[in-house]
Amino acid sequence: MKPKVALIAHDRKKAEIIEFVKENRKVFELCELYATGTTGRLIQQECKLPVNAMQSGPFGGDQQIGARVTDGVIDLVIFLRDPLTAQPHEPDVSALLRVCDVHNVALATNRATAEMLIIALSERLGLGYYTPREA
Ligand code: PGA
Repeated sequence: MKPKVALIAHDRKKAEIIEFVKENRKVFELCELYATGTTGRLIQQECKLPVNAMQSGPFGGDQQIGARVTDGVIDLVIFLRDPLTAQPHEPDVSALLRVCDVHNVALATNRATAEMLIIALSERLGLGYYTPREA
């Protein structure tokens, strides 16, 4: 079964998540991807990968991803947060982080941790130890 990965990025982190997905394309193309609305649309457009796109974050997308985490559908969440800008849907953001902890689902909130998770995932997928920038 394909690993199911959720991708979310706050507005100032959108360029970074696109770059991250492009760098790790070999891993992401073996996964089933979920994302909040705008992040998902951008990944589809810029990376040409299929994404199950939810509502935009401020319109409940974070909660939709959280519900899938609760249902055991999502294996790993990469949520590139912008800690320097107030988010109108901060309660939903906190709730998503909480359900990941409740259900012991791997969660990265910054790129350094996301890279570590992708290395682990690439091992699990049999791609071997994988250093994205050299690929
Ligand atoms: P977006 O939502 O991908 O729809 O912008 C992300 C968020 O702000 O939580």
